[in-house]
Amino acid sequence: MKTLHTTGMPNYSTLLAVFDRYHSFALSTHINPDGDAIGSELALYTFLSEIGKSVKVFNTDAVPKNYKFLPGWDIIEGVNAVETYRPEVLVVLDASTLERIGKPLSKTLLPIHKLVNIDHHATAEAFGDINLIMPAASSTSEIVYKLIKHYQTPIGKACALCLYTGIMFDTGCFRYSNTTPETHQIAAELIEIGEFAPDEVYRNVYEQLPVAKLRLLSEVLRTLQVTNNGKIASVYATQEMLRKTGTNADAVEGIVNQIQAIAGVEVALCVSEMTDRSTKVSLRSQGHVDVSQLAAEFEGGGHARAAGCRIVDHYLTALTTLVQTAQRYMEQSSSKYTD
Ligand code: 5GP
Ligand code: MN
Repeated sequence: MKTLHTTGMPNYSTLLAVFDRYHSFALSTHINPDGDAIGSELALYTFLSEIGKSVKVFNTDAVPKNYKFLPGWDIIEGVNAVETYRPEVLVVLDASTLERIGKPLSKTLLPIHKLVNIDHHATAEAFGDINLIMPAASSTSEIVYKLIKHYQTPIGKACALCLYTGIMFDTGCFRYSNTTPETHQIAAELIEIGEFAPDEVYRNVYEQLPVAKLRLLSEVLRTLQVTNNGKIASVYATQEMLRKTGTNADAVEGIVNQIQAIAGVEVALCVSEMTDRSTKVSLRSQGHVDVSQLAAEFEGGGHARAAGCRIVDHYLTALTTLVQTAQRYMEQSSSKYTD
């Protein structure tokens, strides 16, 4: 396995040579796909199609409703569509491990020649034959943008909209610490090329909430607990809450960001009871604790400030363990700061 350009000046030529050499491509991304996952994959789909390649996209989970404004969303197929299809090249986007595309898909969608991994997670594994891993990039969409630029082909309108959406999503609308002057420069260029209205993109992604989701939010916020020192905040969502509000586990996404906004909170946690009795965990940090390391203790991963994992245990037991672990990380980080 070969890792390309994880540090220093990136040179994309090896990957671009693969794009030139082969004809049939499949793309995939992580389960419960978000704006960067769908955005980067549809941008690469558009680009490869425009340079004359045959491209198919297979995802384990359906495209969430709020991304159905993105051009090409309806070409994305499910696991069952793979059947005997074998692309020459499989490109996996925004997934820190191959299994993150979903275990069954990772076993059935097999490339004949090359597995390519494009990712920006701090915990990214170099599982590809070619790995374009750039933890300093704001998003996988930013990496795809740079890749296309190196191919020296103009970025099309549809592609620009997909890339912008991915970057906007993964920077929390240009608020997170991964937002740089360059991120804004790229975003500005994409708005010019795509001729879309940024406020409409925002509205499509964030302001299509079903009432049920707000009702769930109110249920979940009722479970809010903050540690005595005010630094760790947590909430939980149960199957009973989902049933009562007529929502599913996807509706829990984003709630963790709300509690992270509490003054003085360093680590925010949201755990969800899943139907198989396991617990899905979302973690956020204001910067003192690297939650990707915390999540890695439970076989999860992500970024320093946003990470997640699954724990095979009751959600309340998982929550207690997580708060204790977060406390340990807080203590370690405060001793680091006072040393
Ligand atoms: P979220 O809390 O929004 O679901 O996820 C935050 C970040 O953590 C994302 O970058 C996501 O890729 C990562 N993440 C969430 N759950 C898991 C998990 O179970 N395993 C790994 N490796 N990463 C996760
Ligand atoms: Mn991403």
